[in-house]
Amino acid sequence: MIRTHEAGTLRASHAGERVVLAGWVARRRDHGGVVFLDLRDASGVAQVVVRESQSVHELRAEFCVKVDGQVRTRPAGNENPDLPTGAIEVVADTVDVLSAADPLPFPIEGSAEVSEDVRLKYRYLDIRREDTAHALRVRSQAAYLLSDVMREHRFVQVETPYLTRSTPEGARDFLVPVRLRPGNWYALPQSPQLFKQLLMVGGLERYFQLARCFRDEDFRKDRQPEFTQIDIEMSFVTREDVLAVAEDIVATLWSELAGYQLSRPLPRMTYADALARYGSDKPDLRFECELTDLTEYFAGTGFRVFQAPYVGAVVMPGGAGQSRREFDQWQEWARSRGAKGLAYATFAADTGEVGGPVAKNLSDQERDGLAGAVNAKPGDCVFFAAGPAHASRELLGAARVEIGRRCELIDEAAWSFLWVVDAPMFEQTDDGGWTAVHHPFTAPLPHWADTFTADPGTALADAYDIVCNGYEIGGGSIRIHRSDMQQAVFDTIGLSKQEAQSQFGFLLDAFKYGPPPHGGIAFGWDRVMMLLAGVPTIRDVIAFPKAASGLDPLTGAPTAITAAQRKEAGIDAQADARAAARPAV
Ligand code: ASP
Repeated sequence: MIRTHEAGTLRASHAGERVVLAGWVARRRDHGGVVFLDLRDASGVAQVVVRESQSVHELRAEFCVKVDGQVRTRPAGNENPDLPTGAIEVVADTVDVLSAADPLPFPIEGSAEVSEDVRLKYRYLDIRREDTAHALRVRSQAAYLLSDVMREHRFVQVETPYLTRSTPEGARDFLVPVRLRPGNWYALPQSPQLFKQLLMVGGLERYFQLARCFRDEDFRKDRQPEFTQIDIEMSFVTREDVLAVAEDIVATLWSELAGYQLSRPLPRMTYADALARYGSDKPDLRFECELTDLTEYFAGTGFRVFQAPYVGAVVMPGGAGQSRREFDQWQEWARSRGAKGLAYATFAADTGEVGGPVAKNLSDQERDGLAGAVNAKPGDCVFFAAGPAHASRELLGAARVEIGRRCELIDEAAWSFLWVVDAPMFEQTDDGGWTAVHHPFTAPLPHWADTFTADPGTALADAYDIVCNGYEIGGGSIRIHRSDMQQAVFDTIGLSKQEAQSQFGFLLDAFKYGPPPHGGIAFGWDRVMMLLAGVPTIRDVIAFPKAASGLDPLTGAPTAITAAQRKEAGIDAQADARAAARPAV
């Protein structure tokens, strides 16, 4: 080894020892005749004292150096109790420059605000910063803990392919041209869904993987085109078994990395309840503020806007005192979410009298009963949404979260977990057909096993999502394991026999050979890490993330290719239809 000790490990007990350290110059302070260097390595920082006669003038921040010297206790009064190595310093005999550093694009030490694009362009320097390095270490620690839990449960770790066929998680695929089959393309997996089911047919019974997934979705604030899942599948299980393993993982991670003891079993709520009460399939239960269903209340109303299939409301505590401008901002907020606006009424702080634009449209009776119906106090305001139930509830649910933020109702130090279960199997598409809410391999709840085709709109799935602080951190389901039922789902979502055969024939074939009943779940690992590391975006817990634009400022990817590469990859070639089909064995 180049060094004898790691800088951050030196203590008063090392005083008198000769040491060799290696690391980076974190800070330099010149004090007439002596120079103090903070030497940083992965373990921490130690103070190095160098006589100026030694050639230190050239040393700048982030030079990589080697120091030979002797440890001594710091002179009385110079100790730094905030630093683990604050009792000692290393008096250097020699300082060797291992490599020099150019002037830096941003300071490594301290907490200077640096734009994300610059941080990502110089990610290797950003990783030298304490917060970024810490997030990556938490992630590594979590992976060790995860593999302990999975080993205890006797899971088999399997790597599934990245070059494969399209998988149906509802996003666009990233495609890879195939030189040896010009005109044919691999898809990068949106998840290992089909492979993990095949592993169950293969009899492994318990599979897990920290799997990379690829989804070409429109770029949203906190999405990455490639991300990581803890992917899990189990045979001969009911929902309870899958949930128990998932809770073990969450309980271990939160106990070890957040010092939080989960109380188990985690609460459960049906999807229908979550939507009705919180306007969301991932409700943040760190605060109350439930929605009120006013459809009955306004059943006979003369107010045209409220003559709708659903009328609901959410109360903003103390909201009556908002200025006209603030209420206008709420309208803009609603419009930015695609709503027409956000109707509201206020309850005067002194008299409780109903005011605001909606008030004059209500009958005396509707006005008088309103505070009671929505459970509002004088000084509150209430926001309404009227229209189709799902969209109106989602608008109120988003308003609820916004209210939680603006009124500081959310205890940021709290953790709230729950399972949201029994989502619908299907939802209607714009053209009146049906599409799977989870994915088309999700089994119906037993009650709908024989009837889901007759009434796809009401059938519920044996599916579950785990929610933490308003984020969906995982989701899964009990799967279909019979070809006839699988075929019925494909029929319902309008996938013809030929299409199903060509896309998923291998799965349908596998189901001919004694597939076991099975089910599983996948956690969004990046999101879990974001919550555990206490950082605002998943980019902070990914070593080399794409920027918010979806591009990579570090390598400059994606890049154009040359005409020769284009030709060689067969990008413009027409696929030979016979070659594209699955070969018969
Ligand atoms: N493959 C699913 C997903 O990526 C998870 C699962 O059903 O296990 O959402």
